[in-house]
Amino acid sequence: MRWLQTVPELPEVETVRRGLERQTQGMNIARVEVRRARAVAFPPDPSLFCLALSGCCIVRWRRRGKYLLADLRDQDGQSAGCWGVHLRMTGQFLWIAASAQMPTQAADKQDPAAQRATQPRERDMEQAPSQERLVLNTVGAAEAEAQQYRQVQSTEPGPHTRVRFWSSGGDELRFIDTRSFAQMWWVPANRPIEQVITGLARLGPEPFDPAFNAAHLQQRLRGSSRAIKSALLDQSLVAGVGNIYADESLFAAGINPHTPAGRLNTQALERLRAALVEILQASIGAGGTTFSDFRDLTGTNGNYGGEASVYRRSGQPCRRCGAPILRDRLGGRSTHWCSQCQR
Ligand SMILES: [Zn+2]
Repeated sequence: MRWLQTVPELPEVETVRRGLERQTQGMNIARVEVRRARAVAFPPDPSLFCLALSGCCIVRWRRRGKYLLADLRDQDGQSAGCWGVHLRMTGQFLWIAASAQMPTQAADKQDPAAQRATQPRERDMEQAPSQERLVLNTVGAAEAEAQQYRQVQSTEPGPHTRVRFWSSGGDELRFIDTRSFAQMWWVPANRPIEQVITGLARLGPEPFDPAFNAAHLQQRLRGSSRAIKSALLDQSLVAGVGNIYADESLFAAGINPHTPAGRLNTQALERLRAALVEILQASIGAGGTTFSDFRDLTGTNGNYGGEASVYRRSGQPCRRCGAPILRDRLGGRSTHWCSQCQR
């Protein structure tokens, strides 16, 4: 099953953040149900997680690397800490409006507007703010479960429903995770967030942060014999970059992924930084990645500039020079490049 290899990367997570922000900013969480304890990493007792979030209002959603962070406020307007989420491979949010929880939804079948509203697309989210059921991201097989709701017009939780959040108005934000690797945290207001979500402490600058520049790269990579591809995947060098964007940005910058990172000069590092930012931004603008797998699975099609240049194109002709795209494993990760365009 090909989707198993497609892990959400920064643009997908940013797309989810935007969907959550649009749908749940200002939401008063009335009740929380944890259906699988391991979905909650902190507090260790999931009932404390439910207790902490109940009665809170979602102020905003932030993103750091691939972590989603909701700032919470209590009924007195004081900070009530932070709700963190990492989607890992297949975590997915589904929004079920109170109005969708009626016994019959037969009208959905005929109503094109309602059908459009169930398409998991960022664009549709913008166009149809009042839709009743919404998949807030398009990654992973949880889509199949969402599909099931549409088909049977049921809002009953499925076997992969992990956590459910209800608003005071009866809307439900449902968290579905087929593979159960996703994690959630509640960080109390008085604790440093990195102390609870320890993965955050290891993150380098965001790709869009001015601190992520050629000088930062040069300083961090000086003397390094590690392949630049492996270095790019190191979350302490730059946050949120995964396999797809590493391969694609190295192609765009004309850098061979095997090049020892310490050998790249300032010009090459600046080309790489610019390529990475440009590709990530284009992909976010398109509503997350839309390489072929995503399209096959979900019907979405938000390609950045068409299609991938090298990623999963081994043996096919390079779009720039026609030479076959090569593939091997580098640092345990599948790597794609053009031997002519990337030196
Ligand atoms: Zn080429």
